[in-house]
Amino acid sequence: MTENRVNSIEIDKDEFQKIGHQLIDDISDFIANIKNKPLTPNESPSQLQHILGNTHLPEKGIPAKELLTRATDLLLNHSLFNGHPKFLGYITSSASPIGALGDLLAASINPNVGAHILSPMATEIEKQTIQWLAEFIGVSTDYGGLLVSGGNMANFTAFLAARTAKSPKNIKENGLSNTSKKLTVYCSKTTHTWIEKAVILFGLGTKSIRWIQTDASNRMDNVILEKTIKKDLDNNCQPIMVIGTAGDVSTGVVDNLKGISAICKTYDLWFHIDGAYGIPAAIIPKYKDLFDGASEADSIALDPHKWLYSPLEAGCTLVKNPQHLIDTYSSHPEYYNFTTSEDEIAQNFYEYGLQNSRGFRALKVWLSLQQVGKSGYQKLINEDIELSELLFRLAKEHTELEAISQNLSITTFRYVPTKGEKDKAYLNKLNELLLNKLQTGGELFLSNAVIKEMYALRACVVNFRTTKKDIEEIIKIIIREGRKTHSEILGQKFKK
Ligand SMILES: *Cc1c(COP(=O)(O)O)cnc(C)c1O
Repeated sequence: MTENRVNSIEIDKDEFQKIGHQLIDDISDFIANIKNKPLTPNESPSQLQHILGNTHLPEKGIPAKELLTRATDLLLNHSLFNGHPKFLGYITSSASPIGALGDLLAASINPNVGAHILSPMATEIEKQTIQWLAEFIGVSTDYGGLLVSGGNMANFTAFLAARTAKSPKNIKENGLSNTSKKLTVYCSKTTHTWIEKAVILFGLGTKSIRWIQTDASNRMDNVILEKTIKKDLDNNCQPIMVIGTAGDVSTGVVDNLKGISAICKTYDLWFHIDGAYGIPAAIIPKYKDLFDGASEADSIALDPHKWLYSPLEAGCTLVKNPQHLIDTYSSHPEYYNFTTSEDEIAQNFYEYGLQNSRGFRALKVWLSLQQVGKSGYQKLINEDIELSELLFRLAKEHTELEAISQNLSITTFRYVPTKGEKDKAYLNKLNELLLNKLQTGGELFLSNAVIKEMYALRACVVNFRTTKKDIEEIIKIIIREGRKTHSEILGQKFKK
């Protein structure tokens, strides 16, 4: 029966070429025209379900050509495009086209980058990528680590290594129930939500987080940090780690990393940096000082799918002494035969993190790093920052806009219809409605931030397609829509 096995999943060479070429043609058209397409079609879930059709799992197979044509149509015509030049929402970048090709190649070879023997060249490429990422952000290339799905996972991976290193011995065997002292962690109020998931996931509980106040410049107040650590030590707690943020998600502020590092040394704590968004800016000489102290971190999370423009997903954990990862994650079940005959020891990535089978994420990152090069990245990231500064300036100059903050490539500002409008609640309501309108309008995409109780529009430029003209047009669109929203509210007598 299976002698000359004809199966429905293989695609023969001619057919693969034909549909593959068509797909590449469609994708090239898409990339070339992305700036002329609506940023989002703004269709509701029920509209989308209708388009998709409420059918059952097909009983019989459908030809690949037909399926790819349909999938291409669905995605090219019913998606939100973060590759659009006016997409400046959250921290989601345009994706490098070479990354898309890299993913296709990676999926075709399909190495399992959990073990060296299963992925010889892919493992070496990932090792090289890790080394280059350390070089990129300006820390020692002795840092080791691995690629993960994103910033959250990168931070989790480091968090558990910190817990293993700084908790009472044998925590791996005994778990948290045998720790007589409460383990505590320290981070600023602006720290990304991953920290809450981490303390739940790794058993410390949300009460273990010491949210440290920020100073006038929105950086973690290191004086309060040290006081809080001392107080906890006096109260039978065991501090284990401090998290410094290098580019906070709302406003792009970088903590005083050097100061945090000194405190960690004094109290023997793990120093972790969440650089998911901002740390790639360290590649630019004039911003290097901002990240002073980063090279002393025990671990660093960064996110190639943000400011390195890698397609989703790609995050990265770097650890100063990679042995901490092995101490945390390595195990040797009898069903693994993963040693090699060479005398040098092969690196098995399953021993470095949480995943077992692992995809070849490194390829797309490795390709972009070389296609763009160090000087190319310096230029792109610097331009993103300049565009963000331009947006801030234009907002500042405009009588109907109020510029609020500008750090790295994040600008926050808001629409203020009449100069001196003092009704805070009204301005918040107005800007929230305005943002909703902008996000569904398909012309541009911003997100929001709440700063000192002000509801602000927030633009984060991690987009190599954005130009000066886009920024100028964005201002015009916001003014137009802001006026419209304001008069609509007045018309509806919403105001009080
Ligand atoms: C984006 C971000 C994260 C989360 O990263 P994901 O890739 O979305 O999982 C964590 N911390 C900071 C500072 C971020 O900007």
